[in-house]
Amino acid sequence: MAREIDKKDASKYHLDTLAIRAGQRRTMEGEHSEPIFLTSSYVFDSAADAAARFSGEQEGNVYSRYTNPTVRTFEERIAALEGAETAVATASGMAAILSTCMALLKSGDHVVCSLSVFGTTTVLFNKFMGKFGVEVSFVSPVDVQQWRDAIRDNTAMLFLETPSNPLCEIADIPALAALAREAGAPLVVDNCFCTPALQKPLALGADIVVHSATKYLDGQGRCVGGVVVGSADTMEEVIGFLRSAGPTMSAFNAWVFLKGLETLRLRMEAHSANALALAQWLEGRSEVECVFYAGLESHPGHQLAKQQQSGFGGVLSFRVKGGQEEAWRFIDGTRFLSLTANLGDAKTTIVHPATTTHSRLSEEERAQSGITPNLIRVAAGLEYLDDLKTDLKRGFSAL
Ligand SMILES: *Cc1c(COP(=O)(O)O)cnc(C)c1O
Repeated sequence: MAREIDKKDASKYHLDTLAIRAGQRRTMEGEHSEPIFLTSSYVFDSAADAAARFSGEQEGNVYSRYTNPTVRTFEERIAALEGAETAVATASGMAAILSTCMALLKSGDHVVCSLSVFGTTTVLFNKFMGKFGVEVSFVSPVDVQQWRDAIRDNTAMLFLETPSNPLCEIADIPALAALAREAGAPLVVDNCFCTPALQKPLALGADIVVHSATKYLDGQGRCVGGVVVGSADTMEEVIGFLRSAGPTMSAFNAWVFLKGLETLRLRMEAHSANALALAQWLEGRSEVECVFYAGLESHPGHQLAKQQQSGFGGVLSFRVKGGQEEAWRFIDGTRFLSLTANLGDAKTTIVHPATTTHSRLSEEERAQSGITPNLIRVAAGLEYLDDLKTDLKRGFSAL
């Protein structure tokens, strides 16, 4: 079909164009918008055709746990956006991380992982990978020497998330990629907070990118999904695991994510603008002890973020003067901000990390990672800035 972007031409186009058009292959109906292929299986013309499909001699769909046209469009679009050969979609962000682990790791291997990763990622590494004889060392995302010191002969993966949640720590992707190459172990980057609109880890030297599509790729809080991105070689084993184990993405969810991607860069710029304005405003309030946002010059990761990101993203956090009581009073004082642990939504969210997202950590672990009782996280949505300030002022009035 004409009027499509050929996969091999993807690098010739800007991200804005790819986010809207990459991966689309029209059917004979000539539909303008991408169709949803709600079908579990596919039919063949003859017994010989069926045999050829099953043996892999003939390309084409067999079963939607393996391939689905709507999911394939999403995968090709994400691959184009991240500048990668191959992407494979998963049922959730955690399924993307699990599939990567199952593909890259075996019993007796060792992983070096940032201390500041999504809480469930820590559980996956400690509890479940540990069960299969994989050892994990956790290190500071901002201290390259700690990563270097943690690497062993059997280190098979380096894993990080940048910017981190909720303190916006910035890990040096090129430096850690160089370290990973030296160690002969792949660097995996969870690019959930920036998306390819603001940061392209593969171009900075990382080997694999994982996403929770649930957040900014959707952008409107509708579906749970994930994706793993990398070279065709590396992805082969990830795809093999997904086909056998089954945590694949549904066609319906893929379609929702495709619609979300069309506005990705516009949204990420608007999220970043609202977050920066709020961070600057909060920094000037007398009730605030400090603000964590890499867009602020006061943030220790500001210069590095400017080098490796094209925007600072939507998530910020701040400490109110006082303790948990003040933080809770502030949160309960706001009226329309969504009180939820989710983020990456058009709706601004507010949460108290110490008693929700980071409540499973011990008090000591929380103190070590800066999750103090007076810390509040805000994920800036797309509402009108002054209205966000009005609601946050209600929080200040409640103090
Ligand atoms: C939410 C999130 C995940 C997990 O994704 P799910 O889609 O909830 O499984 C992983 N990493 C980061 C950074 C996240 O924010």
